[in-house]
Amino acid sequence: DINRQVINFGAGPAKLPPSVLLETQKELIDYKGLGISVLEMSHRSSDFTKILNTTEVLLRELLDVPQNYKVLFLQGGGSGQFSGVPLNLIGLKEAKCADYIVTGAWSAKAAKEAEKYGKVNIVHPKLGSYTEIPDPSSWNLNPEASYVYYCANETVHGVEFQFVPNVEEAVLVCDMSSNFLSRPIDISKFGVIFAGAQKNIGCAGVTVVIVREDLLGHAVKECPTILDYKIQAGNASLYNTPPCFSIYVMGLVLEWIKNNGGAASMEKLSILKSEMIYNVIDQSNGLFVCPVEKSCRSRMNIPFRIGSAKGDNVLEKQFLEKAVQLGMLSLKGHRSVGGIRASLYNAVTIEEVQKLVDFMIDFKETHQ
Ligand code: PLP
Repeated sequence: DINRQVINFGAGPAKLPPSVLLETQKELIDYKGLGISVLEMSHRSSDFTKILNTTEVLLRELLDVPQNYKVLFLQGGGSGQFSGVPLNLIGLKEAKCADYIVTGAWSAKAAKEAEKYGKVNIVHPKLGSYTEIPDPSSWNLNPEASYVYYCANETVHGVEFQFVPNVEEAVLVCDMSSNFLSRPIDISKFGVIFAGAQKNIGCAGVTVVIVREDLLGHAVKECPTILDYKIQAGNASLYNTPPCFSIYVMGLVLEWIKNNGGAASMEKLSILKSEMIYNVIDQSNGLFVCPVEKSCRSRMNIPFRIGSAKGDNVLEKQFLEKAVQLGMLSLKGHRSVGGIRASLYNAVTIEEVQKLVDFMIDFKETHQ
């Protein structure tokens, strides 16, 4: 094992399972006795084809992906893919419009991107702060919309859907970048799901896209070829050079998830780990403040302030400095919101979360 002295609570790129890091280290120079690294391997070689196929098979198995869905391994990150969504789907209906549920920074960015290609309908009144999910009964879905878009977990604001929106016959599109494989999902409810790998399932460079087959072939003519689902699916993600090493790392992480009980087991752990932190927050007599409504608090990213709802700069600085001294890294909140953010992706262990809990309790005792 890797005997690490630090704990990485970063929001992404994030902690990888130590056994995965060890495996990549072992195989970095000589992959399975071939004498070369995955870094040096042709993406059209039979050895890389095996890596790609194994990764896809594992993903399909872990999420029980139905046969009528394609699994793609693309580049451009979550941002590339939320730009690709309107280019592929806005033309599904004549009105060229799309419904967006905007619950945080990432869905807001995606909506802004879609405005370049069609009409965007935000289905609820604009939120003053990203701390809640507007009640679905108040959503104003447009029957002419080509698709309905949402972000399952807002990494910056810590808002997570604990349900799948019921949009009847509409094509549901979801950005699952920061909670992918942290819970089982019913893929059949979605038209498209995408997720950058660098949080729960690997390292930066590769983005998984799961797309229902009937949604291939509707891209607008301006859609760059590399973002076109149909072309990428027709070429088994090998239209151009894929991020080979990132796909290899993803394969190892998926194997690790499988060996550790799969998506259901990741969910149990995620509930447990996040409750450990939320309990400290809720029992801190207001020293720690999480602004997010309880029903949609994220299990993955927990943002909180110290001292008051607006945050006391001095206390927050002290907290972060002390955390670093204790070996707890990357707890600083996103630059757009400030404060603290603890990210508890799959690779973060209960023991590591317990260390943060102990530190928070200790901090509370010395500051109240
Ligand atoms: N969507 C979500 C939910 C994210 O958390 C991020 C990045 O943190 C993105 C999209 C953008 O991903 P990328 O930086 O890979 O483009």
